[in-house]
Amino acid sequence: MSNPNSSGWRPEMTPERRSNDGTHTGNRALMLEEALIFEIGSLDTTGVDFADAPSATSRLGDLSRNRDIGLPGLSEPEAVRHYTRLSRQNYAIDLGLFPLGSCTMKHNPRLNERMARLPGFADIHPLQPVDTVQGALEVIDQLAHWLVTLTGMHAVAMSPKAGAHGELCGILAIKAALEKRGEDRRVILVPESAHGTNPATAAFAGFTVEDIPATPDGRVDVDALKARLGPDVAGVMITNPNTCGLFERDLKTISDAVHDAGGYVYCDGANFNAIVGRVRPGDLGVDAMHINLHKTFSTPHGGGGPGSGPVVLSQALAPFAPLPFVERQDGKFVLIEEETAGEHHGDSFGRMVSFHGQMGMFTRALTYILSHGADGLRQVAEDSVLNANYVLRALEDVLDAPFANSGPCMHEAIFSDKGLAEGFSTLDIAKGLIDEGFHPMTVYFPLVVHGAMLVEPTETESKAALDQFIGAFRSVAQRARAGDQALKSAPHFAPRRRLDETLAARKPVLVWKEPGQAQAAE
Ligand SMILES: *Cc1c(COP(=O)(O)O)cnc(C)c1O
Repeated sequence: MSNPNSSGWRPEMTPERRSNDGTHTGNRALMLEEALIFEIGSLDTTGVDFADAPSATSRLGDLSRNRDIGLPGLSEPEAVRHYTRLSRQNYAIDLGLFPLGSCTMKHNPRLNERMARLPGFADIHPLQPVDTVQGALEVIDQLAHWLVTLTGMHAVAMSPKAGAHGELCGILAIKAALEKRGEDRRVILVPESAHGTNPATAAFAGFTVEDIPATPDGRVDVDALKARLGPDVAGVMITNPNTCGLFERDLKTISDAVHDAGGYVYCDGANFNAIVGRVRPGDLGVDAMHINLHKTFSTPHGGGGPGSGPVVLSQALAPFAPLPFVERQDGKFVLIEEETAGEHHGDSFGRMVSFHGQMGMFTRALTYILSHGADGLRQVAEDSVLNANYVLRALEDVLDAPFANSGPCMHEAIFSDKGLAEGFSTLDIAKGLIDEGFHPMTVYFPLVVHGAMLVEPTETESKAALDQFIGAFRSVAQRARAGDQALKSAPHFAPRRRLDETLAARKPVLVWKEPGQAQAAE
């Protein structure tokens, strides 16, 4: 399978396909068709010249490799162009508004990046002598101080590497606390509207998960929750603000009831953006809560960088926090680890990770916090709520907004598929938005809303950007209400048309196939 040029021409491109795309290459204007790197490369090409390796007998015997591993061979410009072309087919917060609900896809300030790249932070190693990394430890300590202060909690475990990892940390702390009390409580209560990671975490940690229903206005049914409390309940996991975009006004009542029944309160703090600087979860009786630095504190998500999920803990759970952590002793920062923990920290449940967590994210998050200050963070929450309410009220006449009468929303607005023309769904609206140049909102989550569309604009979007998004959303929603058939096959302008998503997920084509064989995902 040789490749006549490096622009990604696909050997399997058939005449029909060519005419469908309207071009010989499959390219459209300056958007280039891109083949897999294995299809572009050829084994006799390399980007660098190596001298032949001296022949040597392998000490691995039978285990030594006996055939080529088939890595694609490309020249440097071919490799660079391949990945640059792929990056142009991707969507990113640096390209436009990213309305994914519950994800807090806010702008990643460049000042954060500048600080994280300073060699004193970027080029250090976790096994370096503590004396040589005092500045880095101070960053961890200062960030910890801000997180504890903003949440009104007692301590923070910095090492978890994402929100879900933080949930596990909090639940393991609860488990350790119960073991110390000598109690065998097996049940964790999770509201219906919970993020999928909540029940998954509780089950992973060995608990039995039981659902708590939601009220029609989208909040936890407090009476149902109270009725279920008892000596077998280890705790509850509640998201606040919740995934319907609403503040759980009764959280303090719930916490008091859970504590009276001997359980602990885990709060999923992924949506902290809406209340940072306004509400301290510690005042609401929370025992453990993760904070997604990659949401509220503007560090990049996913491909842009790893997540980070520090967990703030109440006084009751702090003794069980994972190791290692940083402490200030006589003006110097020291690491509390297994050998140095001593009696004082003897109840720690162990470790979440080998080292200290995501140093690059700590530096970015602290930069963000310091550049905003306490008043700026409060304004973040206020503006994120304002923007979400603006979207909610601007769309509620063209889309069903099930909780529009439950008061203002918090950081995200939720819509349902009620009122769309027969045969039209949330998916059609999502695909239509792609043609309009927007990444779709979160779809079909939370499960308590039929055909849910969850939009979180965040505070970093201007009114002009919101108006443009709202205009596009209104137009697509109106087409779905009117039954515009063209919408059923959207997207029309994206590099790929509508995929069979089930087939693409269940049977992805991960290997190169000879021309003529089916490409399942297309
Ligand atoms: C994002 C999110 C999580 C999980 O966080 P990750 O960092 O993706 O692991 C959990 N709960 C809610 C409500 C979220 O929005």
